[in-house]
Amino acid sequence: MIDERTLEKEALAEIGRRGIAETLSYVGSNSRYYQRVFKELHARPEDFSDLDAFRQFPLTTKQDVSGSIRDFWCVEEQRVVDISTTSGTTGHPTLYPMTYGDIERLGVNEYLSFRCAGLTEHDTVILAVTMDRCFMAGLAYYEGLTRIGATTIRVGSGPYGMLLDFLERVRPTAIVSVPSYLRKIGLYAQENGLDLASSPVNRLICIGEPIREPNFSLNPLGQQIEQLWGARVYSTYGITELAISFCECDAAGGGHLHPELIYAEIVDEKGHPVPEGEIGELVGTTIGVQAMPIVRFATGDCSFIQRERCACGRWTPRLGPIVGRKRHLMKIKGTSVYPAAVQRVLDSLPQVREYVMVVRSVAALSDELTVMVALQGEANTGADLVRQHLQAALKVTPVVKVVSMEEIERLQDIQHLRKKRVFIDER
Ligand SMILES: [Zn+2]
Repeated sequence: MIDERTLEKEALAEIGRRGIAETLSYVGSNSRYYQRVFKELHARPEDFSDLDAFRQFPLTTKQDVSGSIRDFWCVEEQRVVDISTTSGTTGHPTLYPMTYGDIERLGVNEYLSFRCAGLTEHDTVILAVTMDRCFMAGLAYYEGLTRIGATTIRVGSGPYGMLLDFLERVRPTAIVSVPSYLRKIGLYAQENGLDLASSPVNRLICIGEPIREPNFSLNPLGQQIEQLWGARVYSTYGITELAISFCECDAAGGGHLHPELIYAEIVDEKGHPVPEGEIGELVGTTIGVQAMPIVRFATGDCSFIQRERCACGRWTPRLGPIVGRKRHLMKIKGTSVYPAAVQRVLDSLPQVREYVMVVRSVAALSDELTVMVALQGEANTGADLVRQHLQAALKVTPVVKVVSMEEIERLQDIQHLRKKRVFIDER
């Protein structure tokens, strides 16, 4: 295994080039899907091994994958040892097969990620995440932590009596979990007179929900769990189709990527690379995957990559916080706005009780956003205040309408949906 801490910029680029060439050659020989793509392009895998040429290779979308899933499988079924599923929020989740080699690769990825977050063989780590239900990440974390030599305790994500019990019995130093779950336990402990801050837990590895703003400062959720637990939070973000995760180091300036396992790009709406540091869609190409490698997979998640040297000393690129989903991006009077940016403003205003955003298309490439708010106190001054704050943060002003709490609840439709709806896309 390469020691990423000693890699220089030139060596990184070379690892990326070699990895891309290997993956292209492998899918050219083994994937019916990519064989079709090469045939349609009248090209061979080696025609794309140069980086400029590679950037012209067509993106692979989620629809491409779910539409012809078996054509992506590159090994005989008898070599598949695990089937996970992607975390699809709609429809049937896509099957994701792995060979034993793929599970080892997942383990290497998490070994590198957790070491980046400072974990060692001296740590005792509670895995408070789903370990079954075809969830790839739970398995990956376990593989990574045992590779490090840390002691793992798989309490899972159910009721937290067992977790609190283990806090007493084995004195864990870290927990891997979903931030909102950590907040729930923290609030429960606070109400019941348990002082979590005095527990030996000093690291909380947070998955599945953002804990940072795009400028890397902690968001309210991140701040709250750091305060409740008296421990540092680290963000990790993973994508099933790429069998990869990006995890923060102590410098907290984005999740480090592992160049021998993934080649990552940030692209604009046309699939072209954006200038360094700019926001666009994350696109990834797996390196070293045997069962279901994927080339230029468009994740639908928008973020940015920083390639200058990290304060921790590593040169490996870092992925910033996810700023939104590509399909939710709005164009308001020529300005790109993600719903999350509007939410950040509304969440920060104590005058706002609840809200719902409604976006409509008013012309080609032009959207109109209406923010419906239920307010505490005086409606007229409240609406102006909301408008001013939105204008300052977004550089454009959406339509702000003050409505009753009943109207908001009707729009949020909590009865029929599992969580309240705050963004209604009518485009
Ligand atoms: Zn770093």
